[in-house]
Amino acid sequence: MTQEFLPFALPEIGDDEIAEVIDTLRSGWVTTGPKVSQFESDFSKFLSSDVESLGVNSATAGLHLGLEALGVGLGDEVITTTHTFTATAEVIRYLGAIPVFVDVDVNSLCINIAAVEAAITLRTKAIIPVHFAGRAADMGALMKLASRHGIKVMEDAAHALPTTCEGKLVGTLDSDISVFSFYANKTMTTGEGGMLVTRNQDIAERVRMMRLHGMNCDAFNRFTSKKPSWYYEVLAPGYKYNMTDVAASIGIHQLRRIRVFQQKRARIADLYDAAFADLPIAPPPRPVQGDMHAWYLYVIQLGDDACVNRDDFIDQMFAQKVGCSVHYIPLHLHPYWRDTYRLTREMFPISQQIYERCVSLPIYSKMTDNDVERVVRAVRVAVG
Ligand SMILES: *Cc1c(COP(=O)(O)O)cnc(C)c1O
Repeated sequence: MTQEFLPFALPEIGDDEIAEVIDTLRSGWVTTGPKVSQFESDFSKFLSSDVESLGVNSATAGLHLGLEALGVGLGDEVITTTHTFTATAEVIRYLGAIPVFVDVDVNSLCINIAAVEAAITLRTKAIIPVHFAGRAADMGALMKLASRHGIKVMEDAAHALPTTCEGKLVGTLDSDISVFSFYANKTMTTGEGGMLVTRNQDIAERVRMMRLHGMNCDAFNRFTSKKPSWYYEVLAPGYKYNMTDVAASIGIHQLRRIRVFQQKRARIADLYDAAFADLPIAPPPRPVQGDMHAWYLYVIQLGDDACVNRDDFIDQMFAQKVGCSVHYIPLHLHPYWRDTYRLTREMFPISQQIYERCVSLPIYSKMTDNDVERVVRAVRVAVG
């Protein structure tokens, strides 16, 4: 019997999502409109009544809008981690600012707070921590440091729905902005999409305007308010980053199941931890006691006593028809970042060491117990 390939990631789209998309298509309003408004207000309700949620067409767009609203511009320095996806740092360059990369903490795989402190200069304008894999960064220490220096903080929360930090959901912490991703393989999806969350009304207003060409009211309001429908004013050279109602239709129903998705992912993480306990494999770091891990990724690290290197391990997994990935090829190894900012692997020993040994295994709500067992068996064969 030939087994089918088990993909590294798959979204879980239900009949409710499909019905809502059809309803939207039939309604005649397919761009930003009532479904986006509903998704935004549902998202705020999910997190906390005192935050404002702004739908955008990707997390990358949200991160760009967030930095812009924080006033980051030419020559400003923004500190972030090398151990992330390129989107976290590219938005800094969009604004002509300078990314300052620091290493991660060996215990959390998130940004190292002491390294952040050492990287602060008079030009540091903002810090972008990443909740790697869905486990919260040490936000308590980071916020203390940032407020002591008067530096803004925007969380790259692309992995972090739902994640808690010291008992509070990411999105409700004391940072200025959090940005979530609904890309196809994230913990929930809208196909492409993102959500910028803030408590700051000035930031919310700026983002609302800049996500749609810098116009002083969005198209939906334009057609429902008392002003003449044709009238608008352009107040800044904004962007085209609005979310569509088609995307929001998917998001509304994904969000309703996000806790169930998290429980399923957490259960798979528990099964993996138990199954690999006797192998030369370091499991992913657990959250601080009592906190919730979103389990976007399950990243193992091959130990020194494993009989196989990372690349051969992944080849072995693919030979057994199990998809794997690597999170991340650190930014300091990519030609653009490495050459532009003269980054070397010696500057980021922890990230470099993780990169050389890490493998991300499949972890998603659609996996059956049989799928999990297949991964476990494949791992046991691959470690040799
Ligand atoms: C996925 C991801 C992004 C970008 O999300 P998009 O919605 O695809 O733009 C940004 N940062 C991190 C850490 C990510 O994993």
